[in-house]
Amino acid sequence: MNFQAPEGTRDITPEQVVLWNRLEKAARETFSRFGYEEVRTPIFEYTALFHKSSGETTDIVEKEMFTFGDPEDKKGTYSLRPELTPGTIRALIENQLFAKKNFWKVWYLGPAFRKERPQKGRYRQFTQIGVEAMGSSDPLVDAETMVLFAEILKAVGVTAWELRINSIGCKECRPAYREALKAYIRPLLGTLDENCQRRFERNVFRILDCKVDAEKLKDAPKAMDHLCPQCKAHMAVVEKALQACAVPYRVDPRIVRGLDYYTRTVYEFSSSALGSQNALAGGGRYDTLVGSMGGPDVGSVGFAAGVERILLAMGGEAPPPAPDFYAIAAGDVARDEVFKTVMALRRAGLSGDMDFEGRSVKAQMRSANKAAARYALFIGPEEAQKGAVKLKDMKDGAEQTVSLDEAVRKLQGGMTA
Ligand code: AMP
Repeated sequence: MNFQAPEGTRDITPEQVVLWNRLEKAARETFSRFGYEEVRTPIFEYTALFHKSSGETTDIVEKEMFTFGDPEDKKGTYSLRPELTPGTIRALIENQLFAKKNFWKVWYLGPAFRKERPQKGRYRQFTQIGVEAMGSSDPLVDAETMVLFAEILKAVGVTAWELRINSIGCKECRPAYREALKAYIRPLLGTLDENCQRRFERNVFRILDCKVDAEKLKDAPKAMDHLCPQCKAHMAVVEKALQACAVPYRVDPRIVRGLDYYTRTVYEFSSSALGSQNALAGGGRYDTLVGSMGGPDVGSVGFAAGVERILLAMGGEAPPPAPDFYAIAAGDVARDEVFKTVMALRRAGLSGDMDFEGRSVKAQMRSANKAAARYALFIGPEEAQKGAVKLKDMKDGAEQTVSLDEAVRKLQGGMTA
């Protein structure tokens, strides 16, 4: 019987994990440089949390959640998290972190789950990496999150990206825009696809997201033309900050984002290196969400990026890190002597391995080459007796027999060189 991974899920093999680690390391370093702290939350939450935060009318909540548990349970069912923002906000509120300081900048990385139709770049289990900056309405924080993501892309060598931004207003100016949009779309409604028709009453902004009828909506009223003076001023600061940091962007009135909670700034990073699933990250400001979830009434902004998508944009494969040594059992040496030496080197902070398959010296040498070890380290009966090793520099082929201590020093010297 052959087992298969569930549809829409993927394994990360040792060959692929090197790139993952590179991305995670670059992200961690960048988050830390920008003053963001890590937070980890459960992969499932009470379903009600997502209804409250992600929004009842979003695709994610309407049809993409993996929900389980007993509906009769007083606290309701559970759902695998379709995104990490709701759990992150819940965690800050529940752990009373806002009592310690008013402004939190946190980041997260972990799996998210959506019951989508799988295709390249779109999975049912995928990994999100993202930030939430909660407790400030300063437009500079909006810009900071965008510069931050651009830095992560730079750190991993992704250059083919585009940033599109928009402002969808606030509770002051949005109602008038909603009406203007509805008035424009109403006569077209019969010609739009079923999905859009459904969205008309429930969440008209999402019609702008429509891929099918994009052409029919190209002259629809733009949120940017309906902003109140405060929202206009906010957007102007965001744009100026991006320009000052030389982060290229384009204002795109079609960016509305799929989630209900956004206010003012919304943005999307996409990559021309990807196919139809080209969104790398999406984010924006959500000034009312934390308050509506029982937290303080504070302004917040964040983004979520898809790790698998960034990896696709990075392309290629990375070789695993080269070890310092590969120990070779030469001649009739007791293998536990080799083992002892290998352990002494590893305990001294060096990386390396030995043969566990009882193979010939020639085959062991092949392993040393394949692993791209800096040194092959021969241990024969003579060396074992003297507590010595024969080092072979794999670059220039130079050989020398040295004591184990000297070998450690030499290899460590190479580490810092
Ligand atoms: P969203 O919360 O839908 O804006 O998602 C944020 C980011 O997560 C997107 O820009 C994608 O990079 C990634 N993403 C969303 N859904 C999926 C999925 N089903 N498979 C892989 N990546 C996804």
